[in-house]
Amino acid sequence: MPDELLPYVEVTDPGYAQRAAGTFTARPHGPAVLLHGPCPRCGHATTSALVDELYRREPATVGPDPGYRTVLCECAAEHPQRPAAMVGCGAYWTLVLEDEA
Ligand SMILES: [Zn+2]
Ligand SMILES: [Zn+2]
Repeated sequence: MPDELLPYVEVTDPGYAQRAAGTFTARPHGPAVLLHGPCPRCGHATTSALVDELYRREPATVGPDPGYRTVLCECAAEHPQRPAAMVGCGAYWTLVLEDEA
């Protein structure tokens, strides 16, 4: 992976989700699921907590769980031009969940 500092840009790409699907691991952590793996944009390790509340089923509106979440890069590395309150490189992608229920 390139060893250069990418500027912070909020961006997504279909390839991010494809790469993350093959490299990220998910494990339960209390009420959340922790996703851990290399960011498909910057390559830094990132861990995202998917809190259960965010994907609570809402049968009155959309029926079954839509089965996907938006994941943000939350790496701890430096990225130029990043707003002070933000983390990661700005990359985000869609995670398709495998419903094992
Ligand atoms: Zn990064
Ligand atoms: Zn990143």
